[in-house]
Amino acid sequence: MAGGNAIRGSRVGAGPMGEAERGEAAPRKRVSFWCANKHETRPSFADDAPIPDLWDCPRCGFPAGRQSEAPPNAPRNEPYKTHLAYVKERRSDEDGAAILAEALARVRQRRGE
Ligand SMILES: [Zn+2]
Repeated sequence: MAGGNAIRGSRVGAGPMGEAERGEAAPRKRVSFWCANKHETRPSFADDAPIPDLWDCPRCGFPAGRQSEAPPNAPRNEPYKTHLAYVKERRSDEDGAAILAEALARVRQRRGE
C-alpha cells in the first residue's frame, strides 16, 4: 500500500535476460502511468511508438493515465449501470403493460359490439 516509492526504483534495469539486448537494438523509453489507486506502472515503449493516453493498471486493472495528480476515473459505474438498466427495464415493463391493457380493452370493446 505505502510501498509505492520503494518499488519505483527497484525494478528499473532488472528485466529478464535478453531485455537489455533488445533494448539496445530498439531504443525504448519508460513512461509512467497512474491509476485511481495511485499505482504507478511504467511500461516501456519503443522510441518511435505512440504513447497511449490510457494504460491498464497491472495491479488492479483500473485505467491508468499520464497525470499522477489526475488519474482517470475508476470504473465504478457498474452499480449505476445496473440500476439504470433496472429502471429502464421496469419502465418498459410498465409501458408494455399499459400498451397491453389498452390493446386488450380495444379487443374487448370490439368483441362487445
Ligand atoms: Zn492500480
